[in-house]
Amino acid sequence: MSGKLCALLALLCHVAEPVSFHYHRYQGLIQALYDVHNSCPYITRIYSVGKSHEGRHLYVIEFSDQPGIHEPLEPEFKYIANMHGNEILGRELLIQLAEFLCEEYRNHNQRITNLIQNTRIHIMPSMNPDGYEVAADQGPENNGYLTGRNNFKDVDLNRNFPDLNTVMYYNEKHGGPSDHLPLPDNWKEQVEPETLAIIHWMESYNFVLSANLHGGAVVANYPFDKTKDFRSRGYRRYTSYTATPDDKLFKSLAIAYSYAHSWMNHGWNCGDYFPDGITNGASWYSLSKGMQDFNYLHKNCFEITLELSCKKFPPEEELEMEWFANREALITFIEQVHRGIKGMVTDENNNAIANAVISIAGIKHNIHSGEGGDYFRLLVPDTYTVTASADGYYAKTATVVVGPDEPTLLHFQLKKEKVSSNSREKLPSRNLNSKNHIRKVVPRSADRRKGR
Ligand code: ZN
Repeated sequence: MSGKLCALLALLCHVAEPVSFHYHRYQGLIQALYDVHNSCPYITRIYSVGKSHEGRHLYVIEFSDQPGIHEPLEPEFKYIANMHGNEILGRELLIQLAEFLCEEYRNHNQRITNLIQNTRIHIMPSMNPDGYEVAADQGPENNGYLTGRNNFKDVDLNRNFPDLNTVMYYNEKHGGPSDHLPLPDNWKEQVEPETLAIIHWMESYNFVLSANLHGGAVVANYPFDKTKDFRSRGYRRYTSYTATPDDKLFKSLAIAYSYAHSWMNHGWNCGDYFPDGITNGASWYSLSKGMQDFNYLHKNCFEITLELSCKKFPPEEELEMEWFANREALITFIEQVHRGIKGMVTDENNNAIANAVISIAGIKHNIHSGEGGDYFRLLVPDTYTVTASADGYYAKTATVVVGPDEPTLLHFQLKKEKVSSNSREKLPSRNLNSKNHIRKVVPRSADRRKGR
């Protein structure tokens, strides 16, 4: 049917509701999420992971063909925005993304339908709703670099996660694990309620991939954020490329976003130059106690930090253009959760083995299987030697080829060790006594002009 006829017979044509590009205050955000849920009740669920200082909920909208349920071999993905309350673009983009996923699913868009059927997508438009209200009271014209950035207690939430980098760097020198590092003993007293809620959330879902949306630059930033010799002299900070054992993977994840974005990959943005539109965090500027390093060191999740706009609080008229610049990238990045290898770890009777260790020869960073025995190991295309091990079982090793597209399925069925065996190989203890290993590091004032 022609566009003209559709305009006349709008009711007969399946025309998606026009999306409105405007700011959403707290109540407006809740309303927008419930509008999406009411339009797509069978593939969405709204839940709160906790409350801010001032009692605002940290809401999440989940997309899945089975909302509320983890289906084995379906990876969990998350987007978090507005951790800095005055960096508002990510918040609006995630609301648009939720509306888009719902509409396209209803329109039988094959790509979006596949994504929702094979992925559990969690979207949190605002991690710092208190800061947002402060910034929004000022509006885009007068908003400086700092107003509303921090939470109600004036704490920068991206400097508020337990510092596991120090443990990791110590272990690199002296031996010890480099993944699934435990929380320090008194961590709950050291974090803000918003951070506490996020950590509980991370403990409740086996997230595989994630992005944290910021503003103030245009670049895809990947771990580590913290240098090994983190310290500052006055305002001068040391910067040096600080690679994770998964450097190739993180680069490719950052590139996936920047090249699907309309101009991030050009490199020149906001007066900075980043080749390919990506950067290692610590080589840009070093920051301690950030969220992305914490994800990588504490859990299975690979997280990057996306800086999406030069202006932290862009005017309303720019929101639509920004949505079209980011839409493909936001979808492409979710699709990155479907690569590498995945499979089930079971015993001889096909019972799931949770917390089995999946290790890759040459990459000193292990992944653990989830409650249902499924594991997800993101990898760039190559040939890998993979070992699955679990306490009380004989380890098993396999060689696998990973291509650029669909993840390779690799299941492990482990045999119980004979009880009489004394030579049982002990896995390295993950119960590291953090008190002995954490050097005290005083957090320094951050480079607040930038987004992170
Ligand atoms: Zn930020």
